[in-house]
Amino acid sequence: MHHPGRHFLQIPGPTNVPDRVLRAMDRPTIDHRGPDFAHLGKEVLEGCRSLFRTSGPVVIFPSSGTGAWEASIVNTLSPGDKVLMFETGQFATLWQQMSVRWGLDVEFVPGDWRHGVDPAQVEDRLAQDRSHQIRAVMVVHNETSTGVTSRVAEVRKAIDNAQHPALFMVDTVSSLGSLPYEHDAWGVDVTVTGSQKGLMLPPGLGFNAISQKALTASKSSRLPRSYWDWQDMLENNVAGFFPYTPATNLLYGLREAIAMLMEEGLENVFSRHRRHAEATRTAVRHWGLEMLALDSREYSDSLTAVLTPAGQDPDRFRKIALEKYDISLGTGLGKMKGKIFRIGHLGDLNDLMLIGTLAGVEMGLHAANAPYRSGGVQAAMEFLQKQSGSVKEIPLVAVR
Ligand code: PLP
Repeated sequence: MHHPGRHFLQIPGPTNVPDRVLRAMDRPTIDHRGPDFAHLGKEVLEGCRSLFRTSGPVVIFPSSGTGAWEASIVNTLSPGDKVLMFETGQFATLWQQMSVRWGLDVEFVPGDWRHGVDPAQVEDRLAQDRSHQIRAVMVVHNETSTGVTSRVAEVRKAIDNAQHPALFMVDTVSSLGSLPYEHDAWGVDVTVTGSQKGLMLPPGLGFNAISQKALTASKSSRLPRSYWDWQDMLENNVAGFFPYTPATNLLYGLREAIAMLMEEGLENVFSRHRRHAEATRTAVRHWGLEMLALDSREYSDSLTAVLTPAGQDPDRFRKIALEKYDISLGTGLGKMKGKIFRIGHLGDLNDLMLIGTLAGVEMGLHAANAPYRSGGVQAAMEFLQKQSGSVKEIPLVAVR
């Protein structure tokens, strides 16, 4: 059926692609070995450093985020290497499964999908590893399947407290460009991300930001690699080129997206996400629904996962909301299937888009005959009105 007006794409990624980015990509594809491309390549590779807050190299693969996960593994580790991972949700589980497939010896610390990585547990485990068998600690910054954000800076401190030399690898697929993140300052060795969330691009680009320590590790690591080899990338990137055909038009989009994020200012982008997340949480509380995230220090500012009351099928509610109001909300993944729905509030979003989104949820709850208290949208509006001045005035539930 044709729905007039714009579809509300409020899954936690892929996110809405702004018109400016769409127009920037609407260009003829150019010779990827010619001078114009070299200019574009250099510009985006340089621009990426500001996004990851690093002075080191960032490589860009024509891939989804999963490819960038694989690149982080095959470039740094060797068969049988021990790595420490944490079951924060579905994406941590998938990264873990990939590591097992690559022949790594994964210690997967179980979790309840309602909490992030516990820094104290990281410190404990690493302190026990006196012979430094653990080669890498791998953490998902923002669990897109649960709406829980792990405290990466504190995990770094835990690694330091244990005086452990493991590499630190972080998945920022649903946090980069939405939540505060510091590749250099937080001592991350490999940061993994994708284009389709905070970066406001279509799917199709995978990124690795690489520390000097990770580069050094890549010289002696023995996992086989070819397509994902950093060395080939880095050699070609010096002149702005790629070892194989890059996703030229997505790179035009990336150049525009970086310009937009820098014009707004990353700090303002982060505050905007915090403000929209807090407005969403205000609505959820008002509806009388329960958030999956249990620790306010770990509430995600890029998405909110909401538990449906017992007996209520979240996917039936999502289907009704889609059919009646043309809004896409996120489904429950893995262990959360049939238990939650997820509201994406990241990327290119303003107050009215958020209110429209929350109205879609509230009207959907009504249409699905779900038990809820009406007025959540009103409560969110009042929150946004009070906080319409300086973004600095937002009462932060928790400062990360
Ligand atoms: N990691 C996180 C946190 C994600 O949210 C996703 C996708 O949603 C992925 C990894 C996998 O990325 P992709 O689906 O682009 O391969």
